Amino acid sequence: MSLCDDTLLCNFPKCRNKLSGFAWVTACSHVFCDQHGSGEFSRSPAICPACSSALSGKLDIVRTELSPSEEYKAMVLAGLRPDIVLDISARALAFWSYQVHQERMYQEYSLSRADTQLKQMEKVLTQQNQSRELELNAMRGEIASLKKVMEEYKRKYSEVSERLMERNRQYQKLQGLYDSLRLRNMVVGAGEVDTVPQPGYQDFNTGVARQATPQRSPRSFALGPDRDSRIFSCLEADGTKTFFQFSSPAWDKGRPFISNH
Ligand SMILES: [Zn+2]
Ligand SMILES: [Zn+2]
Repeated sequence: MSLCDDTLLCNFPKCRNKLSGFAWVTACSHVFCDQHGSGEFSRSPAICPACSSALSGKLDIVRTELSPSEEYKAMVLAGLRPDIVLDISARALAFWSYQVHQERMYQEYSLSRADTQLKQMEKVLTQQNQSRELELNAMRGEIASLKKVMEEYKRKYSEVSERLMERNRQYQKLQGLYDSLRLRNMVVGAGEVDTVPQPGYQDFNTGVARQATPQRSPRSFALGPDRDSRIFSCLEADGTKTFFQFSSPAWDKGRPFISNH
């Protein structure tokens, strides 16, 4: 607000409206809008709302027209001596100058208060940023250590899956062995059932094919009618090894032949 600004502001706390039309001017150099002036100065004794001065004099409060008419301007100081005219003008200018100075003080105070608030907020913001930075660093450290743990788990997982594959291979191998052994045992079992001797029929370790009809089991029927012509012998060759021998004159080539020792 400079001296050339043509408007003063109402001095009523928190009003600060630009004055226009009529203004209430006090001897303590304060000025109020028409609303606050008429409100505050209607009661008695009048107290300035800005500085709490008692305004009891006849000319302590004046309601002034801010844009006086040409007729008023022509007559108000007419007839007065020049020094009085200048004195009145000087006092009016001093009033204006005081108002401008007060406004400037107020603006500077507002500015410094805002500046202080800004600095406090900046301080808080800096502290928050620092704590966020610390948290972020802690989280980064945590992520790095978790990554290490994950790498370790990945390594262990690949080791374990490699071992599992190896076990699977071993299992498949064993399964194959087991299947072939089971098949062989089935054939051996079938052969033993086929060659259950008749009572008193003890001599079966000579390896000579027997033409005597063996006792039939239901299983041998299931295996086919040509089983009748086949004789299977199971011999203990040397006490440590079982020796399987087929003697099958009518063995057809399409059937599996198991005698792999
Ligand atoms: Zn006001
Ligand atoms: Zn005052």
